[in-house]
Amino acid sequence: MGKYIDFSNYTPAADIVVTAVCLVMIVLVSFSYIKRNRNSQLFLKIVILLLIAAWVDITFYMIAPTEGLQLAANWLRCIYHGLLCLIFTYYVAYICEVTKYEKSKIYITIANVILITVLIADIITTAQGITFHITEDGISFVRRGIFIYGYLAYNVLSIVLLIRVRKLVFHRIMFGFYGTLVISFLLLIMQGISSQSSFTVTALMLPAIATLYILHSNPYDATLGTNDEKSMQDYVHQCYEKKRTFIFSSLYLKECEEEGKDIPLELQNQIRGYVYKQVKGARLFKVSGGHLILCFETKRNPDYEQILKDIHDKFFPIYNRYRFDYRIVMGESIDEISKKNEYVSFIRTIQKKMPGCSTYRVGPEDLAEFKRDEYILKELIDINRCDNLDDSRVLVYCQPVLNVKTGRYDTGEALMRLELKETGIVYPDEFIHLAEEQGHIHVLTKIILHKTCEAIWQFIHEGYDIKRISVNVSMSEVKDEGFCRDIIDIINNSGVPGGKIAIEITESQNEGDFMLMKRKVEELREQGIKLYLDDFGTGYSSMERIMELPFDIIKFDRSLVLESEAAERPRMMVENLANMFTRMGYDVLYEGVETDSDETMCKDMAATYLQGFRYSKPRPIMEIKEFLSKKE
Ligand code: C2E
Ligand code: CA
Ligand code: CA
Repeated sequence: MGKYIDFSNYTPAADIVVTAVCLVMIVLVSFSYIKRNRNSQLFLKIVILLLIAAWVDITFYMIAPTEGLQLAANWLRCIYHGLLCLIFTYYVAYICEVTKYEKSKIYITIANVILITVLIADIITTAQGITFHITEDGISFVRRGIFIYGYLAYNVLSIVLLIRVRKLVFHRIMFGFYGTLVISFLLLIMQGISSQSSFTVTALMLPAIATLYILHSNPYDATLGTNDEKSMQDYVHQCYEKKRTFIFSSLYLKECEEEGKDIPLELQNQIRGYVYKQVKGARLFKVSGGHLILCFETKRNPDYEQILKDIHDKFFPIYNRYRFDYRIVMGESIDEISKKNEYVSFIRTIQKKMPGCSTYRVGPEDLAEFKRDEYILKELIDINRCDNLDDSRVLVYCQPVLNVKTGRYDTGEALMRLELKETGIVYPDEFIHLAEEQGHIHVLTKIILHKTCEAIWQFIHEGYDIKRISVNVSMSEVKDEGFCRDIIDIINNSGVPGGKIAIEITESQNEGDFMLMKRKVEELREQGIKLYLDDFGTGYSSMERIMELPFDIIKFDRSLVLESEAAERPRMMVENLANMFTRMGYDVLYEGVETDSDETMCKDMAATYLQGFRYSKPRPIMEIKEFLSKKE
């Protein structure tokens, strides 16, 4: 149970390297950004303990051979063992914390028991002077005592723990740690073979390096100095916890985001040259390819208004030179957004509503709007989840359409509204884009179609003359596998003939979409469902493509009506287009007919159908009866 130590065999080199590496880790952690949480605190404690342990080890070997200092050396050895045990205990706690291991209590308790046992045993043996002494022939003699068993116990405990938690950790990260541990073991074996003891702390330090690299390093953009979105969330969390207000200034560059262009070098230079130098504690986050968000604390920068103005003035010439479409959103931190850590989606929502090349200062009304959007989205998600064709939150409004030839209303367009508890009626411009983006539109379409079919069925049974009602569908859902099946099933289940329903679609610019759309449309056509081309004149129109699809009605957008009113040339063009479509067998419908003069003009321009406020606003579908006539 004892070992002769040849003090000349010890060199402090390894412990000095440990000191240096630990200092490097501390420097890195304080000058760069790491997520601050319980893990990082544990990690820092481990690094500091390693540093102290290395120095206790060095001091021990320095004073142990000196006569008169042996007792002090004994106690130092005792402290050294305690430190190593403490490091081990912290490692165990760290692994438990990172993996959120459910049985962590057991392992931490065992680690603590080992720690206390070793400490007590060490203190007793040291106090009795049996741990370390110089023999008569002057050779120092060390009893390792119980520590060596403690050390082994810790190794076993860590290995068992690492095996237990392996399923809780991404396998590559786990392999990273296993690899590091193997190297640590090899190091200890080598030290045993060469009867060294100077590498003990080094072996314990290697896992700390792995931890820093794998779990605490935050990817920096080396040229811009930005961190990722997760880091921003952490920053916001810290500020919120410590009640620090901050300014955010978001820059969105469309070309960089959508086309993957690099952020202009000049802009990067400005950021490095101005932002980091003039703004105290400036933190820049790159949340996506073309989206940067700058944050800085107001307390450290009381002149923040000037800073924001300066940033804008300095960057403006650069934006102009590169002709990039930019959107700047800035404002002061808002507690509610900080609490839920939602700045990125908050900023994105505002950005979407902004025109290109513009700057926006966030105000209190934006929070209200954001909350409204969030609420609507939550309801949309729920509507989608319920997938209930009778969902009472989805309302069908309908706008009657005038048949010019007969002078009667025998068709109409179904338009969706939502009726939600907290907001009341919500109009399509507030939710259609949300539903499309989030993939919830198809369920809405199914509900509208179902309710429209029910209304038509009722109209027919009450003897009204209803030719058909059209329902809008989104391009994003037409692409879906089950689209046609769902539409056809709903119509068939309602008992209404397919010909009573029309589908309105907007032209697509995308070649792939077109072929897909064509196939789907033909499938619907086979069921007698009519087809309208919606919003003609708003996008890019290809006559060839329009002719390839079996449309029944071309809906001329309101903008064409307005343009025809404003000048002679557009009017001639619209009239000729309408005549051409009519000769080719299509019916022409003018949308947005608001006045008598609109009506007269459209009638002169080959109108078959007229739709607009001139006749009626969209109203709850059952009220359309007022416009329909009874069959003779
Ligand atoms: P849209 O398909 O072009 O529908 C016509 C829109 O023009 C309706 O707006 C209607 O209220 C409005 N409108 C009708 N007459 C006039 C008029 O004389 N003057 C003016 N200025 N506007 C008029 P609404 O109901 O707010 O719907 C807006 C858009 O939302 C629709 O445009 C359509 O793209 C979309 N939408 C509505 N319901 C649905 C739906 O059930 N499914 C899908 N996918 N989209 C829908
Ligand atoms: Ca429409
Ligand atoms: Ca339209």
